[in-house]
Amino acid sequence: MVESRISSSSRSRDLDKLLLRPGNLVGPTFEPGTQLRDDLQEYARILVVGAGGLGCELLKDLALSGFRNLEVIDMDRIEVSNLNRQFLFRLEDVGQPKAEVAAKRVMERVSGVNIVPHFCRIEEKELEFYSEFSIIVLGLDSVEARSYINAVACGFLEYDSNDEPVEETVKPMVDGGTEGFKGHARVILPGMTPCFECTIWLFPPQVKFPLCTLAETPRTAAHCIEYAHLIKWDEVHSGKSFDPDNPEHMQWVYLEAAKRAQLFGIPGVTYSLTQGVVKNIIPAIASTNAIISAACALETLKIASGCSKTLSNYLTYNGVEGLHTKVTEFVKDKDCLVCGPGIFIELETSVTLKMFIDQLEDHPKLLMSGASVRVGGKNLYMAAPPLLEEMTRSNLGLPLFELMDKSPTGVVHVTGTAGKGDKRQSCLRKLRVAFKAVGIADTDMAGGA
Ligand SMILES: [Zn+2]
Repeated sequence: MVESRISSSSRSRDLDKLLLRPGNLVGPTFEPGTQLRDDLQEYARILVVGAGGLGCELLKDLALSGFRNLEVIDMDRIEVSNLNRQFLFRLEDVGQPKAEVAAKRVMERVSGVNIVPHFCRIEEKELEFYSEFSIIVLGLDSVEARSYINAVACGFLEYDSNDEPVEETVKPMVDGGTEGFKGHARVILPGMTPCFECTIWLFPPQVKFPLCTLAETPRTAAHCIEYAHLIKWDEVHSGKSFDPDNPEHMQWVYLEAAKRAQLFGIPGVTYSLTQGVVKNIIPAIASTNAIISAACALETLKIASGCSKTLSNYLTYNGVEGLHTKVTEFVKDKDCLVCGPGIFIELETSVTLKMFIDQLEDHPKLLMSGASVRVGGKNLYMAAPPLLEEMTRSNLGLPLFELMDKSPTGVVHVTGTAGKGDKRQSCLRKLRVAFKAVGIADTDMAGGA
């Protein structure tokens, strides 16, 4: 009986081998059967963040892995230069939102799948939006965007009184990333495996060439280009700033770099390399995206179904010379500000919401300005948009203690911008607030009794 149903759909044949049979590698809660397959199709809701090179692959792979409820969020529009690898897009789609076209194309090709596109910035969505998904899959190319989604997902995590993560509040993430012939796929189970922030050192700051090398001892084509871009441009164009999107500026840098390369006998300066170096573009390779996406889709399926142990926890792929893959088990940073139990802040009961927000700005671990404050599902203060700011403004003068229903302790979520100078970025932090007088009074009484 079961067999005939399996063979009736050739598209789920391989999937059925994973979901309908027991095995030695399955997770502890795995219950094979058609019910599991049907439940996955009906109840699993997956969010794909990014509809670029990786995002296109992810949507296709997840749809073909049997997921039927997908959503995708991306703020970009399609450009001609995307077409070589973002295979869901055609020339006539140029100028259209990536999320919308990608969703439409996959739905045309894979029957039964429903993909809801969101053409906006990730920060524009309410936190509730993210909380509704079973798994969040990231196909992003920026550290900032990853950091933000990571903080959102970790923000849902709750800890019990023993500081152990509450399992039902763990929002799994699968993160993919590629850079030329290199890539990574990782599984993040907040509170259980290291989050993005725990291992932020994996993303070192951009390597810059020392100016003296550029000026005196150039050895590579990139050195010549950066000389023309960073030194020669300013010498010749006093005060006029270089615009990387202006073709005349780029052409000028290219010609200067070529002259310098000739002087030092260095080969390899071309116009496209000039663009690449100046704009810091690392060529995207379609096959790397395909491989990393496949790994991410498989991990998503494993998390959703329990059909196998998940990756533990960081896979790297390197196809630069030959082919090398490796899985590393990174460990959690127990003091992580994002996936840990939260920064502890002790306050007087008289501290108003306004004073609390001001404190966040001076707090050495936060340095957060323009903060919005939420407790439970309630917005105590929203810095933006103006309408919500106006609606919540009257809370600013009230004591936080009262706004938190006179609870002696509580978890507060704050969003704002953090960091210093031009390194500022939007972020979300979890704080554990305890009110001094209340806590002390209770302890004193307990001690006295
Ligand atoms: Zn962490």
